Amino acid sequence: MTTPTAPVTAQVRGREVPVGLYVDGAWTPAAGTFPVLNPANGRTIAQVADGSVDQARAALDAAVSASDTWRHMPPRERADLFHRAHRLLLRRADEIVETMTLESGKPLGEARGEFQLSADFLLWYTEQIAHLHGTYAHGSRGSYRIVTTHQPVGPCLLITPWNFPLLMIARKAGAALAAGCTAVVKSAKETPLTCALFVQVLHDAGFPAGVVNLVHTTASSRVSAALMADSRLRKVSFTGSTGVGSTLLGQAAAHITNASMELGGDGPFLVLDDADLDLAAEQAIACKFRNAGQACVAANRIIVDRRVAGEFTARFVALAEKLKVGDGFDPSTEVGPIISARQRDTVKELVDGFTRIGATLLTGGQEVPGDGFFFEPTVFSVTEADHDLCHQELFAPIAAIYTVDSVAEAVRAANDTGYGLAAYVFTRSVDRAVAVSEHLDFGMVGVNRGIMADPAAPFGGIKASGLGREGGHEAIHEFLESKYLAITVDEKEAGL
Ligand code: NAD
Repeated sequence: MTTPTAPVTAQVRGREVPVGLYVDGAWTPAAGTFPVLNPANGRTIAQVADGSVDQARAALDAAVSASDTWRHMPPRERADLFHRAHRLLLRRADEIVETMTLESGKPLGEARGEFQLSADFLLWYTEQIAHLHGTYAHGSRGSYRIVTTHQPVGPCLLITPWNFPLLMIARKAGAALAAGCTAVVKSAKETPLTCALFVQVLHDAGFPAGVVNLVHTTASSRVSAALMADSRLRKVSFTGSTGVGSTLLGQAAAHITNASMELGGDGPFLVLDDADLDLAAEQAIACKFRNAGQACVAANRIIVDRRVAGEFTARFVALAEKLKVGDGFDPSTEVGPIISARQRDTVKELVDGFTRIGATLLTGGQEVPGDGFFFEPTVFSVTEADHDLCHQELFAPIAAIYTVDSVAEAVRAANDTGYGLAAYVFTRSVDRAVAVSEHLDFGMVGVNRGIMADPAAPFGGIKASGLGREGGHEAIHEFLESKYLAITVDEKEAGL
């Protein structure tokens, strides 16, 4: 086998960015490369190392070798490394934000918001490292004591998607490493550069070799299948589509590998008849069109009480028509491009699908001509909800508005889905807000707000939307196992 010699850095917007794989503390080339495209103009930004199965195995070898030292490092030392990484990350804000906009297309303002949230996640985990306490209790009948402690699950595979390229790696790797696990991160091939910059921050902060490793590849399924088949891997944490999540869970069965899954969503956005309609329309716009609709927590079905449907829809459409679509580097842009030409074609097919089922197009519906993959913010009013299309995750800048006649019907419609990630309810009544939230079969409910990600909150879903939580006190525990020590205590022996 010849040793790959491709460069491990590239010039991107006048800055040097790592484009190799990061294995055992060093950037390394691969035999081949693949292009990363700017979705705003279709041009190549950089060629990135296309990792092989063998290189992914080498990354796991490194994670396994580093595991023992990392898990036994005193919490304060680990927290110091995290503090350093947090400070370094903040110093590199501009470079990381611009890279995110370049490869994912998201407007600079959104990229800045994602950057801040990611830095806050890192800080949240930093603050928890030295506070992972156990418990002490008396045995129910015997003369012994029950001591509970937590131990890291072991080497992890962290698979991230392209839609929130920094947040996903920060949220997963932050929790895993804080818990004392080592990791192999597999980036999404659309957005490897942002992941590389995050890993470079950890490297520069002094994280020991092997603790975190990064593999880019165009052979996702072969690479992850090989790692999942290795019994030394003890955890997989995945964010992406439900189909891939289900495949990984099947693979996890072989070695009873621990798994956390953040999967797709079919978020209902309920506007009840007493809602503040200006607030509801403004929040629905943010919830639907942020990231050009490519978010798992996006409002997939806007369910409005018939008594206010006309007023709400007029406000919502007026705001949608004002949204400025364009290159994320233009400061006036509010909606960036779709991630790829293929995904933009899927958006067109969805528009055709809604038209076929008799939905009324209220605005948009067309791609924006040019080299980039742009699509107009699109709004449909749907009268016939009995189609698969009405329960499919759209992942597109397409809003579908449905009308209902009562609160009970709104809740029934909201729950009529196999997914269970995020739901939203808009009402001025505390009774309704609490009761409706309790009846919604979802992992998260936004009450009078359409955006709710927060490091202190447990993010995650139920049903086909996944298993486990990221953020909140739960996040680190996703990467820890409880360990119980039974300690005999003979009081006579003790002299009592
Ligand atoms: P995807 O499932 O195609 O890809 C996600 C990641 O999995 C990528 O890194 C990809 O390379 C990798 N992958 C693809 N096939 C694989 C396989 N067979 N084995 C192992 N890895 C594989 O999803 P996507 O298109 O990147 O993202 C869109 C989906 O992700 C949507 O369904 C969205 O709802 C979901 N998502 C969920 C959350 C959440 O937190 N719940 C957040 C963001 C995105």
